[in-house]
Amino acid sequence: MSRRQLVRGLATGSVVAFAAGCAENTALGRSQLMLVSEEQIAQLSAQAWQQSLQRERISRDPQLNARVERVGARVTRASGLNYPWEYVVFDSDQENAWVLPGGKVAFYRGILETMENDDQIATVMGHEAAHLAGRHAAERASQQQAAGIGLGLASVALDAGDVENTAQWAAILGAGVTFGVILPYSRRHELEADRLGVEYMARAGYDPRQALRFWESKAAQSAGRNATPEFASTHPSDATRIAALRQYLAEQNYI
Ligand SMILES: [Zn+2]
Repeated sequence: MSRRQLVRGLATGSVVAFAAGCAENTALGRSQLMLVSEEQIAQLSAQAWQQSLQRERISRDPQLNARVERVGARVTRASGLNYPWEYVVFDSDQENAWVLPGGKVAFYRGILETMENDDQIATVMGHEAAHLAGRHAAERASQQQAAGIGLGLASVALDAGDVENTAQWAAILGAGVTFGVILPYSRRHELEADRLGVEYMARAGYDPRQALRFWESKAAQSAGRNATPEFASTHPSDATRIAALRQYLAEQNYI
């Protein structure tokens, strides 16, 4: 089936859900509602990625780019997730980072400037890779589908560049802030990404204790500022989360 046919079929409802039901996720050790196929998610993700690259200013700073690629390659190799990984640094003060299904990772200069070392970059890289291992975007899209918001509509919106719907769907896939829409991951997804992410960074040879230091400094920063920075608002760095991370690090004998 061609992409055009798929999109048309989805839009008219003539293509029935491919992989309806629940699926066991071995990385998470739990089952997930899966109403969307990998193929559908990959197509939407590729569109959202291209649109982000067009909309945002891409950093040409060779050192920043090299650093993200170096840490990214180590962490994603350690994750065992076999995607054609791509990394981009956006030249923006936003303190943000996100991942799209298919291995597309975006860091903003703003968040990189707050990181004290490569281990902290690895913290966020591990966290983002873990969202993919957890199939969190597909799970979220499935929940939207179950709520009656069809993926066919998403394909059409992304194709047509319909700004409002594009933003909503890009956000569901994980690229929220780029499009001016912040759609937080659920606390469950965040905690899962933190735990798995720590494993990935540790396997890659980075210091897992820096994960705690990084999230603690984000929490202190947002408390001190009153206004919550973008990254902290999409990724709630509250006391519960830090406590859960600390407990996990202790269980694994990292601290
Ligand atoms: Zn996250």
